[in-house]
Amino acid sequence: MGMRPICPLSEKPDYGYVRTVPSSEAGRETGAMQVIETIAAFRQVRSRYTGLGFVPTMGYLHEGHLSLVRRAKEECGAVAVSIFVNPTQFGPNEDFAGYPRDLTRDLQLLEKEQVDLVFTPSPGEIYPPGSTTVVEVGDVTEMLEGAARPGHFRGVATIVCKLFNIVQASRAYFGQKDAQQTVVIAKMVRELDMSLEVVVCPTVREPDGLAISSRNVYLTVDERRAAVVLYRALTAAEKHFGAGERSSEALRRIMHDTLATEPQADIEYISLADRDTLRELDRVPPRGALASLAMRIGKTRLIDNCILEK
Ligand code: AMP
Repeated sequence: MGMRPICPLSEKPDYGYVRTVPSSEAGRETGAMQVIETIAAFRQVRSRYTGLGFVPTMGYLHEGHLSLVRRAKEECGAVAVSIFVNPTQFGPNEDFAGYPRDLTRDLQLLEKEQVDLVFTPSPGEIYPPGSTTVVEVGDVTEMLEGAARPGHFRGVATIVCKLFNIVQASRAYFGQKDAQQTVVIAKMVRELDMSLEVVVCPTVREPDGLAISSRNVYLTVDERRAAVVLYRALTAAEKHFGAGERSSEALRRIMHDTLATEPQADIEYISLADRDTLRELDRVPPRGALASLAMRIGKTRLIDNCILEK
């Protein structure tokens, strides 16, 4: 394994195996953060840790990602973060090529959080020529995001399974923001007998309620103002649920009517579904339900959700 000498963060990442980022913070107790690009090197470095928390990301990090990192750090001590824009979860007409990327800034943010290991593989490292194995989770991948983005969850489950095998964490942290993703991953972990715990963390929002997302940078100023309608629709549903409304149709209608107040909102779906099976419900049962929404504003597709429960 080639262990690179210390390399300042301001330099563009090289393509060596392991880059050790020096601590810039006085009094830092843990060792320096290691940035690792190959599976072989990751496995070698990983063997020095006993328990590890893991946060998979596609980079362009924001407070949502960092909330997962902080929770992982708190609960596990040592934390690994992966930064990999996974080509197989993007459809042919989606934004893979244009997806925002800024590795230098991401590494600076992760270093401040005292992350231990950062895995930044290339697509060729993850999918060598001839790779054909995929993970199909089945039913819960078919509706909502799965219906709008065919093949998306095959790509998600396959990359997450591969990363779990590489990182060998005891806990992995995901955001409620991508509610269906958490259901798909939890089901994969259960049904493939993977021995790690999936931890779902609350959605981090902007002060006006818009869920933070790497894709929010695509919004123009006017679209950004309009985007908050997604959160307003969810809070309207929460309010009526809190007042005793249990009819799914009525709750969907309330979300629809709120979204319809924003002329720029092009609604994709409005769902009131079982939290585990993601099947649409007639009434919200005592254990609650998942309210989820997808819409386009201009060229940007936005999703958000909340759990309706007492
Ligand atoms: P991504 O980089 O978009 O693949 O997201 C990586 C992880 O961060 C996923 O588990 C997301 O659900 C989570 N995440 C993204 N945005 C937020 C947010 N606003 N609040 C909490 N978690 C988030």
